[in-house]
Amino acid sequence: MTHHRRVLAAALLLVPVVAEAQAWDVHSMSRPKPRAVTPAPASAPAAPPADAIVLFDGRDLSQWRGGDDAPARWRLVDGAMEVVRGSGSISTVRAFGDIQLHLEWRSVAPPRADGQNRSNSGVFLMGRYEVQVLDSYQNETYADGQAAALYGQQPPLVNASRPPGEWQTYDIVFRRPRFAADGSVEQPARITMFHNGVLVHDAATFSGATAHMRRATYEPHEDRRPLALQDHGDPVQFRNIWVRDLEPER
Ligand code: MG
Repeated sequence: MTHHRRVLAAALLLVPVVAEAQAWDVHSMSRPKPRAVTPAPASAPAAPPADAIVLFDGRDLSQWRGGDDAPARWRLVDGAMEVVRGSGSISTVRAFGDIQLHLEWRSVAPPRADGQNRSNSGVFLMGRYEVQVLDSYQNETYADGQAAALYGQQPPLVNASRPPGEWQTYDIVFRRPRFAADGSVEQPARITMFHNGVLVHDAATFSGATAHMRRATYEPHEDRRPLALQDHGDPVQFRNIWVRDLEPER
């Protein structure tokens, strides 16, 4: 292959990648659905590592607050906490920047609804960047809104969902966005993530703060902000939530 041809071939390879990021409307139903991968069976929760900050160990909601800094009004049930419809999303008392995050969640069984109304919740990194929580086991919805999607932006690489009512794990490495002094984005927020032990994001970037039905944009914010969990009206349960503060990348 001549040099010229090699350059041309490389350019042709790049075109689909660039085009793909812009090709899909938010919540496009024609965007390809990630293929399903059956993960390993659920196991009992593992203990956090020694330097973890435990945000929920099944006993109380002391690390969480509701809106207006009021006590969190989700309910404790069998070592889990459960969304109470209408009580509002909850946020951590502490604020975080770059983190490793582990949490476990389970959907309602049997399912009560379809699409986006089937055990919808969400993990809002820095209170702004949502990783979707949804029962996506044999449940059709738009690809950028299924479980483990960067909501409205990026579908997971595969659909590693377990059936309704089974505990599922999210393991996330999150790098916060970096803003220049003038407010422009130096580095977008970045996420690597495993759903039930299966890779679903490999250094994927958020295109901005999570928005509904429109393109996301960035607005500069603090270096550390609380983590939030979404009340979307469905009694999704969470357990075994911990984070590790990460040093900035060198
Ligand atoms: Mg959600």
